[in-house]
Amino acid sequence: MANDEILLDVKGLKTQFALEEGTVRAVDGVDFTVKRGKTLCVVGESGCGKSVTARAILGIVPSPGKVVDGQMLFYKEDENGSVRPIDLATLRPNGQEIRSIRGAEISMVFQEPMTSFSPVYKIGHQIREPILIHQQVSKAEAREIAIDMLRRCGLPRPERVFDQYPWELSGGMRQRAMIARALVCRPSLLIADEPTTALDVTTETQILELMKELQDELGMAILFITHDLGVVAEVAEEVIVMYLGKVVERADVISLFYEAKHPYTQALLRSIPTISKERRHRLDTIEGMVPDPYNVPSGCPFHPRCPAFMPGICDVIEPPIYALEKGHLARCHLYNEELVGNVMDEPASS
Ligand code: SF4
Repeated sequence: MANDEILLDVKGLKTQFALEEGTVRAVDGVDFTVKRGKTLCVVGESGCGKSVTARAILGIVPSPGKVVDGQMLFYKEDENGSVRPIDLATLRPNGQEIRSIRGAEISMVFQEPMTSFSPVYKIGHQIREPILIHQQVSKAEAREIAIDMLRRCGLPRPERVFDQYPWELSGGMRQRAMIARALVCRPSLLIADEPTTALDVTTETQILELMKELQDELGMAILFITHDLGVVAEVAEEVIVMYLGKVVERADVISLFYEAKHPYTQALLRSIPTISKERRHRLDTIEGMVPDPYNVPSGCPFHPRCPAFMPGICDVIEPPIYALEKGHLARCHLYNEELVGNVMDEPASS
């Protein structure tokens, strides 16, 4: 891949929480790249480390969490058009450099806008704030920029919305306003953490379409975090699947849906409702629960839930990630011919 295609290159990222009960390895050696103008989806159940990964990029991992290893190279373009990498992992979480990137070059949309909008300030004040921090404009100019972005985000009568409080808007309108705030400085990377999970299906569809339109218009990349494979099918170009802090599969979206390689991804796909399934068909659920993060199973952490579990291998040896065809990666012993061959050769016990 040409270097100028890459916007963010995450290598060996580890984020841990040292708690009384033990150390939680929330993100445990994660690698991925985000390409300019493209959408990478990060998928997995709750507790897989996807949101902590997003927060690590912005330097907002909640205490006592810490990035303990790895690189996050952000390829920032300067005013002269030249690109230089900045390792976000080395920046102080509240230092000047990350603050100049956060909200300007990289911004974030959360699941519930009320947790990021303050209820005591008007929408306009909160959208104008990042403009005044990152751009050399007057308050009046910032107001015009904010109203223009509210309009682009599909808010009717944006001048009125500018003077409203967040709690005066419906959930869908509030989410549009939060997208407006995230995009008002035209970031090169938008991190969207379950941005439609709290919305009804119609509003969700509208918000996903809006994000796509704005992505095309502004040319930004999106790191889209979700547990919903239906949303992945709508928005993704590339996908990584995470389980207990590790990437277990990476592929382009078509390969992931038609040729999933990892048993965990295959189980997630079986749990999606489809119109073609018979009305009384019961959805497959993934057997068992996500393990306690203080007691991660030995070998492959998915082995207690895996339908393809190979005793003596999967519960003993931690699988590496295997490179398969077309850039497809899977962290599973099934793709180690030697190991699988040995299992097949073993005589059946009587
Ligand atoms: Fe299942 Fe074994 Fe592959 Fe893990 S390594 S996903 S337990 S087959």
